[in-house]
Amino acid sequence: MRKKGILYVWNDKNLKSRELEINVRNELGVQQQLVNKKEIHDLEPSLKPFYHAGVYYPYARHARNPKKILLKLFDLFLKKGGKFKKININSIEFKDQKPILKSDAEKFCFDRVVIACGAFSKKLTDNLDEKIPLDTERGYHVHFKNCDHLLQRPVIFSNRGFGITPMEQGLRVVGTVEFGGLKNPPSKSRIKNLINNAKYMLGDLPDHEDEWLGFRPTLPDFLPVMGPSKNHKNVFYCFGHHHLGWTLGPISGKIVSGMIAKENTNLNLAPYSSSRFN
Ligand SMILES: Cc1cc2nc3c(=O)[nH]c(=O)nc-3n(C[C@H](O)[C@H](O)[C@H](O)COP(=O)(O)OP(=O)(O)OC[C@H]3O[C@@H](n4cnc5c(N)ncnc54)[C@H](O)[C@@H]3O)c2cc1C
Repeated sequence: MRKKGILYVWNDKNLKSRELEINVRNELGVQQQLVNKKEIHDLEPSLKPFYHAGVYYPYARHARNPKKILLKLFDLFLKKGGKFKKININSIEFKDQKPILKSDAEKFCFDRVVIACGAFSKKLTDNLDEKIPLDTERGYHVHFKNCDHLLQRPVIFSNRGFGITPMEQGLRVVGTVEFGGLKNPPSKSRIKNLINNAKYMLGDLPDHEDEWLGFRPTLPDFLPVMGPSKNHKNVFYCFGHHHLGWTLGPISGKIVSGMIAKENTNLNLAPYSSSRFN
């Protein structure tokens, strides 16, 4: 993890929207440092001077390789006696209220299960007669290898809704929200758009690598679903973390494990219940 903050920049279009956003964050008590052109240049000298102003959050951190962090957590899970099976679950049945997960060739019976399949969770919740309007916001990234020295921290270009983060794999250019479902192929024009935006911000860059399409799991009210299933008390849900699953995963895991262990909590968890879509 790097503690270098995160920087949002914008041009001189739609300044009223930027002002509104700054006011909302102030009302919510978010610490933000407004930065002018010179301060942006001092923070990120490689950026082309397309920006008008920005906001800097000096306390923010970013991961240069999230997979390495997850592998450490995975090791700990195994050391503590956790078992891992990579297998596709097609449906869920019940025997004496105990859930039975079914794959093509096997059945697994548990006291309780958690459905945490991201954007793919709907297939299983439909199977449980829930009407959860989960969809996917598809997003893309590409890498520019050996260019991570060009930026110190993630930089988001607010007007165009995309960002560039220095990662171990190089500079990662990421963004776009596409409603295109789980099965359609990646859109080449969106990849091209990311590349053009990166060049707009940084000038010449080498050929890109690793074109990637990912599926953000999103609900209409932009809140995740966490808690027991409406119809089956031994099935719990934990999905729908839209753009922030990596950030919110740990706290959601803690909340859901607390629910399963029937721990007392002061949190109001009603907004996350699947029954809000009844
Ligand atoms: C372009 C992009 C940028 C992002 N940027 C950020 C960011 O800056 N910060 C942040 O916090 N998050 C970010 N995210 C994360 C994201 O928004 C999601 O919230 C997150 O990936 C959801 O994690 P998840 O574990 O719930 O689902 P997933 O990561 O989709 O994992 C679901 C798992 O369930 C498995 N699965 C699915 N169906 C079945 C089945 N039937 N049987 C068995 N297994 C199954 C899948 O194989 C997969 O392993 C980004 C995502 C994208 C696409």
